[in-house]
Amino acid sequence: MQFDIVTIFPRMIEAALADGIVARALQRDLLRVKVRDLREFTDDRHRTVDDVPYGGGPGMVLKPEPIFRAVDAIAKEGGAPQAVVLVSPHGRRFTQTEAARLAGLSRVTILCGRYEGIDDRVREGLATEEVSIGDYVLSGGELPALVIVDTVARLIPGVVGDEDSVADDSFSRGLLDFPHFTRPAEFRDLKVPDVLVSGHHGEIRKWRKRQALELTLDRRPDLLVDAELDVEEQEILRELMEQKGVAHGRD
Ligand code: SAM
Repeated sequence: MQFDIVTIFPRMIEAALADGIVARALQRDLLRVKVRDLREFTDDRHRTVDDVPYGGGPGMVLKPEPIFRAVDAIAKEGGAPQAVVLVSPHGRRFTQTEAARLAGLSRVTILCGRYEGIDDRVREGLATEEVSIGDYVLSGGELPALVIVDTVARLIPGVVGDEDSVADDSFSRGLLDFPHFTRPAEFRDLKVPDVLVSGHHGEIRKWRKRQALELTLDRRPDLLVDAELDVEEQEILRELMEQKGVAHGRD
């Protein structure tokens, strides 16, 4: 899979991709990320990427021409991208499901806005989708682009060493992940749950399922509507709901 990221701050992207799981995936060629400096697609001496907004008002707006040229160049190099993602607070919320959809594509271009945003003709005539990473405003699209690349990379086979760990991650099946512990078994009067040091694999598996379900029920019950649960999990969830129903009745 290849990401092409169009930005006025290529170093921000490159620095973040220099370490960790994504860096290893890049080294092993499981994933490619090409960072495109928007200024290279300008046609004036000053390499101008922005201009004042029509209608007045504060701030600057990224000009459309360099962005269209950048995507033309990307398409010329390797064929038209399957998705041209404009990162924007106006977009559809990015979720694990959206990440899984993008992970099924082979070429994705991400356009990073700055200042007041990007000339709206980019949304109208170039982007195939708009994605938001949450209901808050960042100063630029570089961090959202990195959020997308990192989340998608984890879903590419081979990128995360143990694929079970990705399958158990929060949101993969509509559940939050169970709590994790490591040595020592006791630290400042805080103990690891007995079951985890018991060596009973069946009990450990069941405890983890119960913890994941209870956490999800308490904190993100909205996720349970679409969660994929096996028969044992459905039974545990019924028990938990009954217990909590009793607890609520007593409140
Ligand atoms: N004036 C815009 C608004 O209020 O909707 C905000 C522009 S923001 C300062 C500059 C750029 O950061 C945006 O064009 C977008 O690319 C990116 N950005 C900011 N917040 C974002 C978010 N929550 N999700 C995705 N991209 C975001």
